[in-house]
Amino acid sequence: MNDGRTEPRRPLSAPGRVKEVTSVSNPIVKSIRNLAMRKTREETGLFMAEGLKLVFDALEAGWKIDTLIVSRNQLADSPHLTRAAARTVAAGADVLEASDKVLAAISRRDNPQPAIGVFRQHLAELPSLDLGKDGLVVALDRVRDPGNLGTILRTADAAGVKGVVLIGDTVDPFSLEAVRATMGSIFSVPVVRMGEAAFLKWRAGFKGLVAGTHMDGTVDYRKPDYAARPSVLLMGNEQAGLSDALAAACDVLVRIPQVGKADSLNLAIATGLMIFEARRPLLTLGSDG
Ligand code: SAM
Repeated sequence: MNDGRTEPRRPLSAPGRVKEVTSVSNPIVKSIRNLAMRKTREETGLFMAEGLKLVFDALEAGWKIDTLIVSRNQLADSPHLTRAAARTVAAGADVLEASDKVLAAISRRDNPQPAIGVFRQHLAELPSLDLGKDGLVVALDRVRDPGNLGTILRTADAAGVKGVVLIGDTVDPFSLEAVRATMGSIFSVPVVRMGEAAFLKWRAGFKGLVAGTHMDGTVDYRKPDYAARPSVLLMGNEQAGLSDALAAACDVLVRIPQVGKADSLNLAIATGLMIFEARRPLLTLGSDG
């Protein structure tokens, strides 16, 4: 976070200050920009979420805000921005009133959102997820594409999935791209990270259904009764599919029938189909209201 020469390391967790920043070379701005790098996110335990919707989603869900960057130009005319800033200061975190140039530099976009929140990362533990009698979990083997992961988290949220498990070497769920694609669902769906060996150990003690999706699966994906007990949907890597060890640990390997020339479906699309099939008996038009 420090440029290593003249500026001291900035404590990102310093409480409740409001500052104006206009220069992209400001050390605070530099330290936040560096959150675009996975290494910095891992070192600091922080990540960025762009836009007022995501900032409010996070605050409502109780995520800890570290810094809020707001557009200095839009602050006076936007009661929502003012409210977000007030909530941030009340939570003991910093507000930076930034020029649009600074916002663009932080978000790496020409048309930046008027608010960017820096939040503390939070992950869940698989054993702590309450699956009840029919809860559904999605487990992703080595997912590589942040857009796929974000889309899956959003879809999982929409269907009431209890958690998304990232197995093995995966993309960072807190990358800007993944967070953008979740449209805020990163703040409502518990995300678990674990190695394959740890997942297999947990699976050995799991009494529910583990359904793997596989291009060699022989069972139609509409056949299992996923809602009859707690279930895990196991989805494969974008290139390699499911590892042999994970495939062998499944109770059933299902396949979504295809016609046409496509070898397979996109991972996020396949996961969406699986999730909504697995939740079909439980989701009705009345269930959202
Ligand atoms: N070449 C890979 C393979 O042979 O497994 C293709 C992987 S596919 C792009 C990524 C994942 O999406 C698969 O591992 C599986 O979980 C899921 N998937 C895609 N199409 C599917 C289908 N028709 N039936 C079941 N799962 C599918």
